[in-house]
Amino acid sequence: MTRFWRSDLVSQDGAPQAEALTSPVFDAHTHLDAMAQKAGVPADAAFVASAMADARAVGVLAAITVGDTVASSRWCVDAARGHPDVYAAVAVHPTEVDGLDDAGYAELERLAADPRVVAVGETGLDYYWDRTEPAAQQEHFRRHIALAKRVGKPLMIHDRDAHADVLRILREEGAPDQVVFHAFSGDAEMARECAAAGYVLSFPGVVTFKNAPALRAAAAVTPLDAVLVETDAPFLTPHPLRGRPNAPRLLPITVRGLAAASATDPDVLCAAIRSTGERVFGLRTA
Ligand SMILES: [Zn+2]
Repeated sequence: MTRFWRSDLVSQDGAPQAEALTSPVFDAHTHLDAMAQKAGVPADAAFVASAMADARAVGVLAAITVGDTVASSRWCVDAARGHPDVYAAVAVHPTEVDGLDDAGYAELERLAADPRVVAVGETGLDYYWDRTEPAAQQEHFRRHIALAKRVGKPLMIHDRDAHADVLRILREEGAPDQVVFHAFSGDAEMARECAAAGYVLSFPGVVTFKNAPALRAAAAVTPLDAVLVETDAPFLTPHPLRGRPNAPRLLPITVRGLAAASATDPDVLCAAIRSTGERVFGLRTA
């Protein structure tokens, strides 16, 4: 039995620490602002520096911090401009699109042009939370796809309980050159379909959950050059730390779970993820 986490590894503040990776990797999707908010501390430069130092100590050398509102997107760009290991993605999350107007899109487009912004996201469809009309979500998803194409940056997709509509709208609009499914939640059949379309699948801590055999089956059939890994921190904390807030420093647990699911050596997996990060986001991890 592989040990993904050692109970004797505890950071200075008493939080559990993952065992360091022997080949480095980056976190393809995280929310540093939401992490600070959840911890009840200011989302300032000191917080970002400490989160990224903890991450670097275990071989997680960079992270993409992802906006889910215009204000959060602005925060993400500032964070990325202020720290060499942080990159940003900007968009308005499908459950936050009510009230997003032309002025909001103009601001997103201005932010998206920043060289530290490596993706337009997270955008997509969320039929799980009964908050925002599907028709409105679809309209805004289409506008985000158009924005990604105009600025020439990858599209980072949030897809919750909406697989068929997400794939249909991508087909109808014409997908940008690079498409990443964040927190991929499809099965093996969908993974094959996405890989055949040239989409990249980013796997979260869910891949370590006992009740997620379908996601492990998806990982097993995804070509190595179409795989990324992410925390979605502070959410989706991997087993056995579920219930605690997630953080980039816990990504090694998910990397090892993903390596086991895809029967790939963790070092080989990390090397593949680094080169996919460079291909998709132009991100050099060192
Ligand atoms: Zn997210």
